[in-house]
Amino acid sequence: MKPKGPRDATLAAPRPTAIVTGGSRGIGRACAVELASAGYHVVVNFREQQAAAEETLAAVRAAGGVGEVLGFDVTDAAATTAALESLFERRPRIDALVNNAGTVADGLFATMSPDNWRKVLATSLDGFYNVTRPVVRRMIRHHQGSIVSLSSVAARRASRGQANYAAAKAGLIGATRALAAEVGRLGIRVNAVAPGLIDTEMTRHVPLEHALPLIPLGRIGRPEEVAKVVRFLCSDDASYVTGQVFGVDGGMS
Ligand code: NDP
Repeated sequence: MKPKGPRDATLAAPRPTAIVTGGSRGIGRACAVELASAGYHVVVNFREQQAAAEETLAAVRAAGGVGEVLGFDVTDAAATTAALESLFERRPRIDALVNNAGTVADGLFATMSPDNWRKVLATSLDGFYNVTRPVVRRMIRHHQGSIVSLSSVAARRASRGQANYAAAKAGLIGATRALAAEVGRLGIRVNAVAPGLIDTEMTRHVPLEHALPLIPLGRIGRPEEVAKVVRFLCSDDASYVTGQVFGVDGGMS
């Protein structure tokens, strides 16, 4: 019989496993806590900030959940493969993957350095490839799984100084749709979430007086408001949803 994915409030045994990349803070931390409270064993990925990832794990435990931290830089293919292979030995079945790791390096395109172009694309797009490919191969083996990637309103709405970020986040939407078409018949769903302006370290420098008039709901979003949509997409409640992009942007798009 095909194993079922997790259902909120119903802790299947053994506990399903979710990986959240960039889980050391912000939206990634909120996703880790939200998925833990939905019953997952949550693997909290971090790049360098192990102490911050441990804080996420403490929040996961405070929410009654369980998990572990796992360090790797998603842009480093070899390090990512090695870390995931070691995880698969302990937890052979991966039920959910949240591709959350992302970065910004804003600047006008005409003067943008090659490094700032490359870094942003590498984190979102090479990161998607490096993490999703080994994970989806596990999911194919088990004929189930849900993959959610963090795109952005910037993929759909013009924003000065963000050509690199817009390209990276629009690329994620393309990859999401193509992969959804490939693996849907294998029981795997692939979706994206496109947040607007969310209150995290990434947006600390954004002048709110310029941004708020663009948001119909009139306020900045909270990481938990994104995480709840991610939780929905990972759950069986979204069992007929794939290849979609969910805006969580207060109406900004
Ligand atoms: P933060 O900058 O607060 O957190 C980003 C996280 O990604 C950190 O944990 C960071 O770890 C991690 N990370 C960055 N690069 C790598 C890497 N190479 N390997 C592993 N982890 C990495 O961002 P947010 O929480 O705000 O954003 C989360 C996601 O949501 C991103 O993809 C972002 O683009 C997207 N998003 C955010 C919006 C917002 O308004 N905040 C709006 C739209 C989309 P480290 O501490 O090591 O850097």
